[in-house]
Amino acid sequence: MKYLVSLSGGKDSTACLLWALNTLPKEDILPYYIDTKWEHDAVYEYLDYLEEKLDVEIIRLESEGMEALSKRKKMMPNRMFRFCTENLKIKPAIEFYKTFQDKGIDFINITGVRRDESEARANTESFAISQDGIKTLYPIAYWSTQRVFDYHKENGIDVNPLYKKGFSRVGCYPCIYARKHELMLMEDKYVQRLRRLEKDMSEIVDNQKNATFFAPDRDKHLRPTLEMGNENQCVNQYGICE
Ligand code: SF4
Repeated sequence: MKYLVSLSGGKDSTACLLWALNTLPKEDILPYYIDTKWEHDAVYEYLDYLEEKLDVEIIRLESEGMEALSKRKKMMPNRMFRFCTENLKIKPAIEFYKTFQDKGIDFINITGVRRDESEARANTESFAISQDGIKTLYPIAYWSTQRVFDYHKENGIDVNPLYKKGFSRVGCYPCIYARKHELMLMEDKYVQRLRRLEKDMSEIVDNQKNATFFAPDRDKHLRPTLEMGNENQCVNQYGICE
């Protein structure tokens, strides 16, 4: 039996890895990370930190990447059309599982979903089997946010430094669900990356609303993100997603 621990670089998946290392045979634990190619550098550095501190090897899987996906679909994902998760995370994970299925190796996926994250997750049980037979363990389903932070501390592991900077989630940077205050915290390098993608997209989309993550007030808000010079002012315009 192999235990595949899905890591994002965030606090919940790290808590799952710590739980697995405290509970299961280490040689059977395989942490994996799927690169959306739309991440903050701090995530890669944090994965390196976990590998060194916990003496584990994290399997790094590739995805199509946010920019290539947006261009292929001729639209950027948004809250209404959230095709990013399916393409950048679920598909690579399924391909990864298949490598075990093809070899007849039994496995359980371990994921850091918690009930108190959202209404959609409020009924998460500690174990589930999907329609296609994938077994998933949710060891922190009933944990609070505080419990997750405390568990890092108890195990001598720092949380990803992005939380200390004020970000409430770690994943794509920015995520389509990023809040206004998170966008305002973005460093220039990442604002420029977002603006570059929006500009590229504005040249290939049929409808300009598809050239941003942050609909619906797009016509009023999209233009400044492409044309104005003040980065803070630009990212401020994204407040519509809060
Ligand atoms: S982290 Fe956000 S942007 Fe990235 S795949 Fe998930 S929902 Fe989409």
